[in-house]
Amino acid sequence: MTPTRPILEYPDPRLRRPSAPVSAFDDDLARLVEDLLSTLYSTSGIGLSAPQIGALQRVLVMDHSGDGTAPEVYVNPEILGRAAFGIVEESCLSVPGITGNVFRATRLRVRARDQHGTPFEHELTDMPAVCLQHEVDHLNGKLFIDRLWFWRRLLIRARAGRKKRGG
Ligand code: ZN
Repeated sequence: MTPTRPILEYPDPRLRRPSAPVSAFDDDLARLVEDLLSTLYSTSGIGLSAPQIGALQRVLVMDHSGDGTAPEVYVNPEILGRAAFGIVEESCLSVPGITGNVFRATRLRVRARDQHGTPFEHELTDMPAVCLQHEVDHLNGKLFIDRLWFWRRLLIRARAGRKKRGG
C-alpha cells in the first residue's frame, strides 16, 4: 500500500503557483500518480491535483465511482471546449470546511495524456466535468474560492487568518 501524502491547505503559497507541464513519462511520474490516487482514496474527495500534495506538475486524478474502482489520470490536460454552464456547489480538500457556488461548464471536451504518455480525448458531463475544471484550476494556481462572490472570499480569508493565529 502506497503511503498517503499530506494535502496542502489554503493559504499555503504553493497552491498559488502554476504547475509545469510533464515532459518525462517515467518512474517518477508513475510514483506521483500512485501517491495521488492513494492520497485521494484516503479522503472523501473525488479529485486531486499534484500541486495539492506539493508536486508542481500538470497531473490530476479523479474517481467518480464512489468505491475507488475507476481511477482516471490526466497528464497535461487541456480543456478544448466548454458548454452547458450552470451554478454548482463545490468544496476542496485544500480549503477544508468551505463549500460555495461556482459558475462552471457542465459539459466539456478534454485532451490529455495518460501516465504512459498516450494521448486521449474525453467528453465529460456533470460532476466529472465540474471536477476536472476544479482540478485544472489547481494546476494554474487558482482555487475555487477565487470564483466565489467577494463577501464570501472575505469570510474565508478571515477564517484562515484566525486558524493561522490560533493554531
Ligand atoms: Zn480543490
